[in-house]
Amino acid sequence: MHEFKYRSNNLYCEDVRVQDLAEKFGTPLYVYSYKTLIGHFLKLKTAFREIDPLICYSVKANSNLALLRALVNEGAGLDIVSGGELFRAIKAGCSLKKIVYASVGKTDCEIEEAIKLGILFFNVESFSELKNVQHIARRLSRRVNVALRINPDVEPKTHKYITTGKLTNKFGIDFKTAKKIILLARGFSHVRIAGLHIHIGSQITVPEPFAAAIAKVLRFIVELRKEGIGLEYLNIGGGLGIIYDKEIPQTAAKFAGRVLPSLKKSGLKIIMEPGRFIAGNAGILVAKALYVKYTPKKKFIIVDAGMNDLIRPALYGAYHQVVSLKRKSRMERADVVGPICESGDFFAKDRLLPKVEEGDYLAALGAGAYGFSMASNYNSRRRPQEVMVVKNKVFVIRQRETYGDLVRNESIPGFLLK
Ligand SMILES: *Cc1c(COP(=O)(O)O)cnc(C)c1O
Repeated sequence: MHEFKYRSNNLYCEDVRVQDLAEKFGTPLYVYSYKTLIGHFLKLKTAFREIDPLICYSVKANSNLALLRALVNEGAGLDIVSGGELFRAIKAGCSLKKIVYASVGKTDCEIEEAIKLGILFFNVESFSELKNVQHIARRLSRRVNVALRINPDVEPKTHKYITTGKLTNKFGIDFKTAKKIILLARGFSHVRIAGLHIHIGSQITVPEPFAAAIAKVLRFIVELRKEGIGLEYLNIGGGLGIIYDKEIPQTAAKFAGRVLPSLKKSGLKIIMEPGRFIAGNAGILVAKALYVKYTPKKKFIIVDAGMNDLIRPALYGAYHQVVSLKRKSRMERADVVGPICESGDFFAKDRLLPKVEEGDYLAALGAGAYGFSMASNYNSRRRPQEVMVVKNKVFVIRQRETYGDLVRNESIPGFLLK
């Protein structure tokens, strides 16, 4: 479900013609549909309403303040992974009691800041980190809730770079070690292990790995209960996949159907951390075809967006559907590439596309998650502008960077200025 559809051969975002946005604001341009964003959040919320989980949107998927605020207004919490994301969460008006903080490498400063503010809890990923949280909490005379991140060792059947719940991954703690830690932590004065956390990977399209991981964790919780250790929370992470190409991912309802019964039976307070599922199909990246180049082997469409704007194809070999903003009947096979000096700078390879001419606009669909949030200034390119469409209204939610922004924090040492 998304709100990017053709009307009389022109691509629209809700009630706005995308080409009008490209002409007005320039390209590359990220365009988001408010309705799509909120719609996905509400789908999950509805599917799980029986247990009323805290849905903490994963900020790293797309951290624009406007998107965060839109979700916070609907009751979402936020899942953060850095001090910078904590800053954004607060700017977006998120209640501190709805913020959960994961990351294998939290610094002392980040931990201290989050304790002082009083977030809901840390997802702790090692015994060293737990001791560090205890140490800092004691110094601040605060008692802190944490959830231990468990590595349940399940195969999520996704790209190896976004697999996070196998024992060969750096994330979380295996069950045996977790049990030792939980027993030891009973003696800790300033931290309380309030729950467990899992997050097994991203772009997972079938419910089985989630169900398997949840079953393992619930069995572990029963085992702990027998030892007199009661937990309050279970955070089942994110990772729900979306359609980029020909995937048929589980819907929110299917996913809930599969995992809800056991979650409900557990009596635990459930947290989830979807990112891609909420933001992925809510955004597109619009680019202009600068040049069309025929080599003896191929047709190349060279666009004004590059891998610095959307790195997923270069990083994961990810597929994004590429469409022309004006629908055409004649088709031609081509590579869609960016202007950057890297052969990994591509959006589509050997793709059957409308017969694009110079000056036409194209869009990469499904660019709402891990698009702008992974954008960089490589090749000294300014990061793109972002706009949000709400029905027939358009809001600029991030200005295009200026050349001044590119060098704002740099300086030339005096001795070089002679
Ligand atoms: C990235 C991440 C998520 C979100 O993953 P999606 O695949 O975007 O849903 C959730 N939890 C943690 C701990 C993460 O690192």
